[in-house]
Amino acid sequence: SMSRTFPDRVDVAIVGSGPCGAAYARVLSEQCPGARIATFEVGPLLADPPGVHVKNIVDDEERARAQRRSEGPQPLADDTPTDTMEGYADAAPRLVRPGTFLLPTGWQQPGEDGLPGAAMSANVGGMGAHWTGACPRPGDSERIGFLPDLDELLAEGERLLAVDTHAFDDAPFAAEVRKRLGDALDATRAEDRRVGPMPLAVQRQADGRVTWSGADVVFGDVTRANPDFSLVPEALVTEVLVTEGRATGVRVRDLQTGEEHVVSARAVVVAADALRTPQLLWASGVRPPALGRYLNDQPQTVFAVRLRDVGHARTEDVDPRDEPEIVPQSGVSWVPFTDAEPFHGQVMQLDASPVPLAADDVPTPGTIVGLGWFCAKDLQESDRVDFDATEVDGYGMPAMRVHYRLTERDHASIAAARETVQQVARALGDPLGDEPLTFPPGASLHYQGTTRMGATDDGTSVCGPTSQVWGVDGLYVAGNGVIPTATACNPTLTSVALAVAGARDIARTLTEEEK
Ligand code: FAD
Repeated sequence: SMSRTFPDRVDVAIVGSGPCGAAYARVLSEQCPGARIATFEVGPLLADPPGVHVKNIVDDEERARAQRRSEGPQPLADDTPTDTMEGYADAAPRLVRPGTFLLPTGWQQPGEDGLPGAAMSANVGGMGAHWTGACPRPGDSERIGFLPDLDELLAEGERLLAVDTHAFDDAPFAAEVRKRLGDALDATRAEDRRVGPMPLAVQRQADGRVTWSGADVVFGDVTRANPDFSLVPEALVTEVLVTEGRATGVRVRDLQTGEEHVVSARAVVVAADALRTPQLLWASGVRPPALGRYLNDQPQTVFAVRLRDVGHARTEDVDPRDEPEIVPQSGVSWVPFTDAEPFHGQVMQLDASPVPLAADDVPTPGTIVGLGWFCAKDLQESDRVDFDATEVDGYGMPAMRVHYRLTERDHASIAAARETVQQVARALGDPLGDEPLTFPPGASLHYQGTTRMGATDDGTSVCGPTSQVWGVDGLYVAGNGVIPTATACNPTLTSVALAVAGARDIARTLTEEEK
């Protein structure tokens, strides 16, 4: 492999190239032209442009290869199926999605629930190269009360992710699905919390093709054209260097050569996901009391239903599709979280049935609907990821130990979500299967809280309102771990919004220091 040039000194070093790391690069490229920015990503570059969503890779084999290459130090065999519907309705205790890899050890402690589904991605673009792109805004108690500009930040996040609420408006039966959902659920809801189309990070191209926003969209042309921005794949950041309460750079291992480099920086952003961000801080000796704590994921229940009494789709809607993954029939509907009904519901019209149907029973496209309900976790300080001082993971970083329990309140909210899912299924049509399936903890892939934001440094948070780590000037954390509230909605939009505020803070500091 080729030897590469690592910069000796930059203004901003970013660890991780998922949507949140990319948001920092984008905002800094927009607001601080001339600032030298380097992003280090442990995983490989999959395709061009960097960070592109794998579903936009049209060739099946190329796409499967990109998924495999995202699966960390021990990827699955090349012939493992990567069909994203596979296993959807499977009760397998450790569901693994293509492009992700499970935590190999430490995901459960004796007598605890653990996070059997805890997974990560390692590739340029992070999980954002594999995600579904649902971008709902948080509501009610999901919102971060101490951030007065949250809505403006969310709007900026929607711009960076290119969120579109109407990309699938013409999906067959989408309007009917929403009518049935609304009739069942809307009576008691505030206007902005009623059933609607899901805001999605997707683009409908001129030729009708749908493409997914990955980190490539977040980086945008302005980052790609920035001569002072560099992205270094297969580069593991092993330490954030801290001197006298200030971040001064990073130590990076070139995974192509094994060489170590020290890169000085005026600011360091760790956007390495909600498990590996606290890991890197811990490895760097940055260990505020809340680090790794308040870990939460969103207990997830799924069910499938076949729409009743919808007749047949218009013939133009049932054209055979040669790229079923890329041109889905999917409408995606959104049942927003409310404090009264503290779940987030996502209702997707599926391309295929997740459960076997009779061989001669070919459903009309759009008539098979998957329900996914997420609960907000009952936050506990004791739910946490700890790190081992002696054992290491596949990258040589401190091994993770997850401590995680569902409380009585969690069991009650899961039971309530299951009730609602069944009620909604009956309102839509004929359920496929006897009862919903509740996935094991971790399956949501929405891990939060481990580097949580707080209004003040009172020991229950890791960073302040601009994502700067308490007590370490110039060190910022990014990603779902920063979210302090118990959200049930998909977290990426919120995390990208928080990243915008952090990037603006760095831009302000760099500009002031120039003066
Ligand atoms: P990531 O995207 O995880 O990126 C972190 C990056 O940091 C990784 O590439 C990793 O390799 C790198 N890294 C880690 N440690 C180091 C290190 N020490 N040195 C260098 N690099 C490092 N979210 C939603 O909001 N809506 C959805 O609909 C949705 N659907 C999903 C569906 C699937 C199948 C999957 C897999 C995820 C889904 N998600 C969804 C979750 C979403 O992808 C994540 O919330 C999002 O990608 C988080 O962005 P991030 O930048 O914080 O972290």
